[in-house]
Amino acid sequence: MKTVHTFVRSPNHVYPDHPERPARLDILEPRLKSFDAELIDTEPATREEIGYVHHPNLIATLEKVCREEAPGIIDYAPTYVTPSSFDDALLAAGGVITCTDAVLNNDAKNAFAIVRPPGHHAEPDRAMGFCIFNNVAVAARDALVGAASRGRPSLQRVAIIDYDAHHGNGTQAAFLNEERVGFLSAHQWGIYPGTGWIEDAPHAKKRIVNVPLPAGAGDIAYERAADEIFRPFVENYKPQMIFVSVGFDAHWNDPITTLGLSTAGYFMLAKKVVQLAEEHCDGKIVFVLEGGYDPMNVANGATAVFDALTNSRLSEDAALRDPNPRKEPDCEARIQEVCKWHGF
Ligand SMILES: [Zn+2]
Repeated sequence: MKTVHTFVRSPNHVYPDHPERPARLDILEPRLKSFDAELIDTEPATREEIGYVHHPNLIATLEKVCREEAPGIIDYAPTYVTPSSFDDALLAAGGVITCTDAVLNNDAKNAFAIVRPPGHHAEPDRAMGFCIFNNVAVAARDALVGAASRGRPSLQRVAIIDYDAHHGNGTQAAFLNEERVGFLSAHQWGIYPGTGWIEDAPHAKKRIVNVPLPAGAGDIAYERAADEIFRPFVENYKPQMIFVSVGFDAHWNDPITTLGLSTAGYFMLAKKVVQLAEEHCDGKIVFVLEGGYDPMNVANGATAVFDALTNSRLSEDAALRDPNPRKEPDCEARIQEVCKWHGF
């Protein structure tokens, strides 16, 4: 079965000197034709679908602000809106739902939703961190509750694995008390938004898992985290489908963070989560773009994701292109601390 993708560039969601800009996708876009993956059309998410996660007052306020007051800054991250941002955000969420539908309807084996604005910082009652609506959370909730209207059974358990450089606070907030969603976030500790410590959700051990990594953590630390934490998390939770919030801002030369992944590391991670989906979810996995602020890193990282989804080898050129020039800190104690807290 094939791999599919959506592409929502949102060219008019742009703000002077802001890193979350359409040009993030400029090197990736012409490469998309070269992947063994089919582009599928995106429908905007409906207000009802957005409402699976977000408060109606937030949806109404954001629409009003975008249509009547934009452009402007709506939080300190800073998060901006333009006159098109409300519609762009509906289309971004729709891009993830479309991919999810393709996979759940068995029209595709797996998928990658390349969308912006990103989503994982957006909480049920506030937009924040460059995010308007929480795209992955909306699609995950749709897989749980929206399936009946599409003539297929609803899922009972989905997992979201988030390895953007930043904590997926919005996704965690959306599912803090939702037993049908497991959430794991591996991120740099001590940067925006400040949440994501190991003990954030003591009532949900093994279901809400945070892996706060020190600055400089790279391929070695992430491989250990995948083997020691991602794997037992999936084996214990037994999801029927996996979403991956992938951000390419954990790359060692991202302009706004200080982690240490290389393109080869991104490929290793993508392979490992695809393997987990093969073992536990009949291969059902949807990657969702979150952050990543260097256009070359986004292009190379997305290439690594497509190579993993299509069971291709990462080209040697890409693997050797960008090794992390810095020495990684030893993260073993932190990883063991996470394992101990959850009993993994
Ligand atoms: Zn990020």
